[in-house]
Amino acid sequence: MKRIVVLGSTGSIGTQALEIINAGDDLAAVGLAVGSNWEEAVVQARGCGAGTIAVSDPEGARQAGEAFAGTVLAGEAAARELIGATSPDLVLNGIVGAAGLGPTIAALSAGIDVALANKESLVIGGELVMELARAKGGRLLPVDSEHSALFQLLHGEEAVERIVLTASGGPFRGRTDLGGITVEQALDHPTWAMGGRITIDSATLMNKGFEMIEAHHLFGLDYGKIDVVVHPQSIVHSLVDLSDGATLAHLGYPDMRVPIAFALAWPVRIPVPVERLDLISVGRLDFEAPDPETFRCLDLARTAGEMGGISPCVLNAADEVAVGAFLGGRIGFDQIAEVIERTLEDVGSGPARGFRELFAVDEAARERSEELVGGFRSG
Ligand code: NDP
Repeated sequence: MKRIVVLGSTGSIGTQALEIINAGDDLAAVGLAVGSNWEEAVVQARGCGAGTIAVSDPEGARQAGEAFAGTVLAGEAAARELIGATSPDLVLNGIVGAAGLGPTIAALSAGIDVALANKESLVIGGELVMELARAKGGRLLPVDSEHSALFQLLHGEEAVERIVLTASGGPFRGRTDLGGITVEQALDHPTWAMGGRITIDSATLMNKGFEMIEAHHLFGLDYGKIDVVVHPQSIVHSLVDLSDGATLAHLGYPDMRVPIAFALAWPVRIPVPVERLDLISVGRLDFEAPDPETFRCLDLARTAGEMGGISPCVLNAADEVAVGAFLGGRIGFDQIAEVIERTLEDVGSGPARGFRELFAVDEAARERSEELVGGFRSG
C-alpha cells in the first residue's frame, strides 16, 4: 500500500488524483491540503479515510477543526507540516502557484518522492529543487501531461537531439490581436478542463513557456534542444528526436487522469478508465508553428529560462499577479505580457543563491507587478 499526501486536493488535479486513489486498493490518501475550501476537504477526508487535513486559511482551519474528527493543521505552513506529520511514501503536489514551492522543498528535504503537478516549484526554484532532490534521493515524477510523456519516452534514452512540447494553442490560436478578450472567452479552453490560472496561462502560451523551463530542469536539456509545436487536437503530448533520425511520440486523448495515475503508481502502471485512442475517429492530426509575436509570453519565458537565476522566479510572480488582475477585471488580456515584461526588466536578473532569497525575490516581483497593474488602471 502506497501512502499518499494530496496537496491541493480540492483543485482540478487534486480531485482527479483522489478519484484514482479511491478506485483501487494499492494507493491510500493519508493527508489532504487545501487553501480555504475546508468544507470540501472534510468531505474528501471522510470519503478517502485520510486522518489529517491542512488548511492554509486560519479561519477555514478553525471551522474544519470543529467539523472534522481527525487532525487539522492550520496556517500558511500547514501543507509543509502535513508532510512531517504523516510521513507518506509520496506527495502529490497539486497546489497552484508559488505556494507549492515550500511543500515541494519539505517533501524532498525528507527524501520523499513528489508527483509534481505544481510546475511553479521548478519554474521558481528549478536549479535548487533539482539539487535538493539529488542530494536527498527523492524523485520528481512529473504530472504535467507533456512531461509525463517525456519521462516515459526518455527512459534510458541517451541519444536525444531535441524534445518537442506540443501546445493546443488555446482559445485564441490564429488571432493576431489580443485586444477586447473577456475573462469568459479566455477561460474557455478548447481541449483541457483545468483550474483558472493554468487555463489563462494556456491562452497566453505562458503555460508552454513554464513547461519549457520545467523540461529544462527535469531532463537536463539546454533550451536550444527544447521546441514547441502547436497541435490543436492535444492528442500527441510530446515528441523526442533521437540521433539516428527516429522520433518517438506519446499519444492519447487529453485526460489528466492518465499522467496523474502514472505518477501516483510509478514504477507500475494501473488501469485507468479513460477512453481508448481511436485514430480513425480522430482522422487527422494538425501541427503549426507558434506565433511568438502575438503570444509574447512564450519568448518572455524562454528568455527568463535562459537567463536562469532569479529571472524565472520573477517571471512566475509577475504572471501570477497579472493573471489575477486580468481575472479580477483590473487589466486587459493583452496587458498580461506587458506587466510581466516590465517586471522582468525592473527586478528580473541575478543569481539564485538559496530558497530564502527566492522567496524575497518573489515578494519584490509581486510588489512591482502590482504597481504596474495599478498604473494601467489609472493610465
Ligand atoms: P486549481 O486552481 O484547480 O486548484 C488549486 C488547488 O490548490 C486547490 O485545491 C486549492 O485549494 C489549493 N491551494 C491554493 N493555495 C493553497 C495553499 N496556500 N496551500 C494549500 N493548498 C492551496 O489548480 P489546478 O488543479 O488546475 O492546478 C494545480 C497545479 O497543477 C498548478 O501548478 C498547475 O499549473 C498544474 N497543472 C494543472 C493541470 C490541470 O489539468 N489542471 C495540468 C498540468 C499541470 P482551495 O480549493 O481551498 O482554494
